[in-house]
Amino acid sequence: SAAPAPAPIRRLEEAVVNRIAAGEVIQRPASALKELLENSLDAGATSISVVVKDGGLKLIQISDNGHGIRSEDLPILCERHTTSKLRQFEDLQNISTLGFRGEALASITFVAHLSVTTMTEGQTHGYKVTYKDGQMEGEPRPCAAVKGTQITVENLFYNVAARRKAFKNPSEEYGRILDVVSRYAVHKIRASFSCKKHGDNRADIHTVASPSHTDAIRAVYGPGVARELISLSVSDDDPSRATFKMQGYISSANYTSKRTVMVLFINDRLVECGTLKKAIEVVYATILPKASKPFIYMSISLPPEHVDVNVHPTKREVSFLNQESLVDSIQQAVEAKLLESNNTRTFTTQT
Ligand code: ADP
Ligand code: MG
Repeated sequence: SAAPAPAPIRRLEEAVVNRIAAGEVIQRPASALKELLENSLDAGATSISVVVKDGGLKLIQISDNGHGIRSEDLPILCERHTTSKLRQFEDLQNISTLGFRGEALASITFVAHLSVTTMTEGQTHGYKVTYKDGQMEGEPRPCAAVKGTQITVENLFYNVAARRKAFKNPSEEYGRILDVVSRYAVHKIRASFSCKKHGDNRADIHTVASPSHTDAIRAVYGPGVARELISLSVSDDDPSRATFKMQGYISSANYTSKRTVMVLFINDRLVECGTLKKAIEVVYATILPKASKPFIYMSISLPPEHVDVNVHPTKREVSFLNQESLVDSIQQAVEAKLLESNNTRTFTTQT
């Protein structure tokens, strides 16, 4: 049986390359929203509001009161690899902003219609610009504005039929968007967040800047969770292992839920860590009588040189050194705290 003759290797057109790359960064409406939200936070915003239509497929609009974008930067704003955050590769090691690759806005313009209204401090008016395929369309138009930035994304995946068809359920996509906003609202308590459906009067999430994470958890996840929180902190300074600090809240034995909610930030980045989540669920499963799942909020700080933030196109995962020992220490701390609070509970109910 003869092998087929090799097909010729050809160079892809740039537009094709860009659209493929965009699909990796912007996987669904919630990933677009996450990038936009992180840009607002990087711009120092203390107030962020989001409006969504059709699960984000028709419209995602985000308004912030951050530092805005300089009008002279608008022509290259949505080109690939244009950023105000990173200069050299080495900077990645100590990067304190959530963004660094200059890819998010560009990616969005390859798969959606994007427009920006922005004004910096001390200006008398703002500018409105629209973008397509990485390029500015026409010139920025002066307009009335307030300090900050509003970005509007319409018709996501209008030119990627297969991707658009994959999102049959807009309310599920809206749920994912709410999930991203919720998590940031719990962690970034110095900012206020709101998220609502276009045309609704009532916001589905509404938080005010608050002094505590428990207030934010109450506002987002409800009083039922908030009243059952136990505060937990763990640190390990032993230089032979990974040095880290963890601060957070876990639900007590009185809290029952069918689904684990784990809000995890590592060095202020919203991430997921399946291993850590499982390790904690195991503790709950062995200690709690019913198969109840916990609520967990954890903020972990690691030495920046131990963390690689650039391992995943959506930045959902980070990799870090000594993951195993870190997971072990946190698991032990959760177990000790839970046993302690469970004993107290048994004691008080018996007397
Ligand atoms: P990155 O965040 O990796 O730099 P982005 O494509 O997300 O790349 O954004 C490109 C640049 O646009 C940012 O570096 C920033 O200067 C500017 N920018 C984007 N969104 C905002 C915003 N909401 N407020 C102020 N500047 C913004
Ligand atoms: Mg960004």
